Amino acid sequence: LLRSALSRKATVQLGRMCYSSSSVPTTKLFIDGKFVESNTSEWLDIHNPATNEVVGRVPKATQEEMLAAVDSCSRAYKSWSDTSILTRQQVFLRYQQLIKDNIKELAKMITLEQGKTLADAEGDVFRGLQVVEHACSITSLMLGETLPSITKDMDTYTHRLPIGVCAGIAPFNFPAMIPLWMFPIGMVCGNTYLMKPSERVPGCTMLLAKMIQDAGAPDGTLNIIHGQHAAVNFICDHPAIKAISFVGSNQAGEYIYERGSKNGKRVQSNMGAKNHGVVMPDANKENTINQLVGAAFGAAGQRCMALSTAIFVGESRKWLPELVERSRSLRVNAGDQPGADVGPLISPEARSKVESLIQSGVDEGASVLLDGRNVKVKGYEKGNFVGPTILSGVMPNMKCYTEEIFGPVLVVLEADTLDDAVSLINKNPYGNGTAIFTTNGATARKFTHDVDVGQIGVNVPIPVPLPMFSFTGSRGSFRGDTNFYGKQGIQFYTQIKTVTSQWKAEDASVTSPAVTMPT
Ligand code: NAD
Repeated sequence: LLRSALSRKATVQLGRMCYSSSSVPTTKLFIDGKFVESNTSEWLDIHNPATNEVVGRVPKATQEEMLAAVDSCSRAYKSWSDTSILTRQQVFLRYQQLIKDNIKELAKMITLEQGKTLADAEGDVFRGLQVVEHACSITSLMLGETLPSITKDMDTYTHRLPIGVCAGIAPFNFPAMIPLWMFPIGMVCGNTYLMKPSERVPGCTMLLAKMIQDAGAPDGTLNIIHGQHAAVNFICDHPAIKAISFVGSNQAGEYIYERGSKNGKRVQSNMGAKNHGVVMPDANKENTINQLVGAAFGAAGQRCMALSTAIFVGESRKWLPELVERSRSLRVNAGDQPGADVGPLISPEARSKVESLIQSGVDEGASVLLDGRNVKVKGYEKGNFVGPTILSGVMPNMKCYTEEIFGPVLVVLEADTLDDAVSLINKNPYGNGTAIFTTNGATARKFTHDVDVGQIGVNVPIPVPLPMFSFTGSRGSFRGDTNFYGKQGIQFYTQIKTVTSQWKAEDASVTSPAVTMPT
């Protein structure tokens, strides 16, 4: 299996194995090591965002199927949690190689269902692959602590252990990277995992599931269910599930955090954002303009770390015309077309929402320096395209500033000083990411110190930390107290057992009962 999955041809077949052979392919459930057709009567269509054609269907799993999936996780937990750590490491070493060998196939599936450009889809897989590579360091990451001789003949040491069945609920915008933030870290720690991918982009998770099976993960260690609210409620309520990792909107994230926590589960919830880029007049102009354009419009702005708000400080406002021209030069096209820079939005509803937020900016007095509404993409007239859009003269009370737009729209504000810019950022409820563009070290240091945001870039527009660190969004962008991946990710999926032991020589045994508190 491992060898066959390594070949590119086999992986194309692998995509189909997850589907039936009917003209509209159906996404399978993955239960107890088998890809099975759902018995449900409720199905959702999956669309290609560039054409709005239906490319597949995804089931809303029945209660019975969801119970079967979690029971499978529970049964597999006993043996998987007892597996040697070196065995688990070997599974993930094979897994990272399989992902690496199949990046292009995974990227094709992402572009088909999510719409982003193929190059960007490869980046999506690559950033998830890095988390799997990090999971291979589990032999160091799970080390406990030891303190010998805390008193005579007595030592204390800790074991870091798995917690049980864990579950992940993923969004649509990173079909590979975000599921890979979840189940590999959970599983490598010795937990079993129930995954619910976004119902809009389930195909990539199914390919990743086949690959982890081929890498040697035993049946039941990963189960996959599909659906929307009922599946989410099931995960929040089932007593066997000990921890939930969620990434997505604030509406869903707050709800899942509350319902899961009330049921006694650990919950980490990464949510929405409004990321500000501060442009100082001393910044390198060429670099800054290119970085702003890439970070505002890449992935059609559908990144939680998109730099969707620019604050021009002082004289840097003079660079706006060049920013507009550079943005205008981006090519809007279907993600699988050569040279495409900006692909479609996920759905017609997302397109309408983005267009109405642009209009709200106009109605409230902002100027449209570049208008991507009504963009025409030859051959893809039915796609959900919006071109790069820039709104200037935006004020903090405008709807286009207060709401997450999640589209290719850059809103531009101005500030007289760095302090004014920082004060604006700190008043915004979100704290996912921010960046400063400057050539002055003292300015950069002051900014990183004063700004109340969890992830900061200095001349780096999208400062998503590599997996040896953690994804540390803060304030309105996060609920919970332990972040995704890095040391915190391991902490989230493990619990500590502390052992205090005394081994006395025979001639020094305990001679009388001690009834006072041991000191
Ligand atoms: P979403 O909240 O609509 O969906 C995420 C998941 O929650 C899906 O699996 C969906 O089935 C489920 N869901 C949706 N609505 C729900 C509800 N009302 N109750 C219960 N479950 C529900 O999010 P999305 O549109 O797929 O993703 C975009 C959002 O995700 C943006 O807000 C973006 O900023 C955020 N995001 C955040 C991060 C981060 O790390 N902070 C990363 C990526 C995306």
